[in-house]
Amino acid sequence: MAGDAPATRKCSSKDCDNDAGQLQCPNCQKLGKESYFCSQDCFKRNWADHKKSHKSQTTGTFNPFPAYPYTGTLRPVYPLSERRKVPASVQLPDYAKDGIPRSEQKFVGRNKIAVLNPKEIEGMRKVCRLAREVLDIAAREAKPGVTTDYIDEVVHKACLERNSYPSPLNYCHFPKSVCTSPNEVICHGIPDQRVLKDGDILNIDVTLYHGGFHGDLNETYYIGEKALADPDAIRIVETSRECLDKSIELVKPGMLFRDPGNVIEKHAKSQNCSVIKTYCGHGINQLFHCAPNVPHYAKNKAVGEAKPGMCFTIEPMISLGTHRDKTWPDDWTSVTADGTRTAQFEHTLLVTEDGVEILTARLPDSPGGPVARIEASNGQAATASA
Ligand SMILES: [Zn+2]
Ligand SMILES: [Zn+2]
Repeated sequence: MAGDAPATRKCSSKDCDNDAGQLQCPNCQKLGKESYFCSQDCFKRNWADHKKSHKSQTTGTFNPFPAYPYTGTLRPVYPLSERRKVPASVQLPDYAKDGIPRSEQKFVGRNKIAVLNPKEIEGMRKVCRLAREVLDIAAREAKPGVTTDYIDEVVHKACLERNSYPSPLNYCHFPKSVCTSPNEVICHGIPDQRVLKDGDILNIDVTLYHGGFHGDLNETYYIGEKALADPDAIRIVETSRECLDKSIELVKPGMLFRDPGNVIEKHAKSQNCSVIKTYCGHGINQLFHCAPNVPHYAKNKAVGEAKPGMCFTIEPMISLGTHRDKTWPDDWTSVTADGTRTAQFEHTLLVTEDGVEILTARLPDSPGGPVARIEASNGQAATASA
């Protein structure tokens, strides 16, 4: 005799006989699995056991450089996903096919800084606004349980939806559409199968190519509540954010490109942090990277001065420990030599007649934003607020 009662779903907790409610494990959802629980309490009680089931979904992943002396706890998690496709309707930068930015190479070693005409400035405004939208979309997806490869997929799609090319893709053979840099990664992290953890900090660096121009920005985000309760995570992220904000205050016609580094290093040191020296801000326009070079450390010898119509980035990378960096054998991922965490913020800027326009400025609904510092070692997780 066949029963006609509706099939009831049972709670996924081991040793729980209750019927399941509507509550689903968010990690399982991300992995495309269904697991329903009878209650939040039961889900929490069973968490230690349940989370093991997420691991089995990621078997087949591996560390491609097992013998490499990593400086911290982070490891690459391969295989990388397949190269993402770009439809023929999207305008490509010159390196998209063979990975070689020939138009940039023509200018290497020249210190002449482009001054854009009004039409070109409009092109920069447009691409930078689109880049901001894409970063915000990616940031809303950055939470515990998702992989950095998923962030890459989100960025790639959002670029195509805006008829834009994701500038990092195949730039000097970079394999992905965005840089994702967690914890001790300074910059140029390659999106892979690593799952973001509660307590991570993550930099997402987005660049779009649209209408013949590049727009470049990045921010560092707190992943989960643990990160927002970690005094050192807040110190490094907020210090980097402030370093960028303070250096932008300098920008106006006549500013020397060696000046921002003095302000950045002074503030970083006041927070007991150090400035990464290997990577600099850069000119940006029809080229992804060009003159001027904008170092973030004090007493640098950068050449040139700001004039109306110039576009460049400032993008300080600040660490809790050493200023020294190392690069993984993937030839991209830059990490701190001592494995301490780092954070970064970046804007694309336009020098105006009397100051600066932040072309990649935050929108009223942009995710992220400043968080109040909390005292170390008070034993309690203080709630931080924007
Ligand atoms: Zn940049
Ligand atoms: Zn960038």
